Amino acid sequence: MDDRISVWVGDITTLKVDAIVNAANPQLAGGGGVDGAIHRAAGAEQLQQACRQIGGCATGQAVLTPAFKLPAKAIIHTVGPVWQGGQNNEAQLLRSCYSESLILAVKEGFRSVAFPAISCGVYGYPVQQAVPLACEEVERCLESFLMIKKVVFVCFDEAMAQCYESQLASMD
Ligand code: ADP
Repeated sequence: MDDRISVWVGDITTLKVDAIVNAANPQLAGGGGVDGAIHRAAGAEQLQQACRQIGGCATGQAVLTPAFKLPAKAIIHTVGPVWQGGQNNEAQLLRSCYSESLILAVKEGFRSVAFPAISCGVYGYPVQQAVPLACEEVERCLESFLMIKKVVFVCFDEAMAQCYESQLASMD
C-alpha cells in the first residue's frame, strides 16, 4: 500500500486538508448524506451560489468550488454512479470519480485530499465492490501524481473503515 493513503473515521467536513471531495448529484443541488453535511458546514447559501454558477456535473466528472466556512481550502464535487446492478458502466464511472478528482487536485496544486465513500450511501453501490475499486484507483493515480502527499479515505463508521483497512492491507 502507498503510505500516502490513510483511513480515518469521522465527519469529512472537519478535516483541514487542501480539498475534501463531495459525493454530489448531477445538479450540484445539495442533498442528503455527505453532500448535505458539506453544504451545511460550508455555508449552504454561498456554496449553492457557487454550484449554480457551475451549473452541473456529469457522472464520473469533477468540479471545484471554494470551501467557504470549512477548514479545507476547496471542495471537489464529483458525481458517483447510481448502482443499477453493475451492467451500466458503474465501475468505470466510479473509477473516474477518483481519477478526475485527483487530476483536478493536481491542477490546483493541492497536496492533500480527503474522499468519502462515493456512491456507497443513497446511490447504493455495494461497499464490497466500491472499496477495492477506490483503493486501487487512488493507488494507481498516486503512482504518477507524486505531488499529492496525502489521501484520506473518510469513513462514517468503523465497519466501513475496517473494509478499507483490510483492502489496503491486502494490497501490500
Ligand atoms: P452517495 O449519494 O454518493 O451514495 P451518500 O452521501 O449517500 O452519497 O453516502 C456516501 C458515504 O458517505 C456513505 O458511506 C455515508 O455513510 C458517508 N457519509 C455521510 N455523511 C458523511 C460525513 N459527514 N463525512 C464522511 N462521510 C459521510
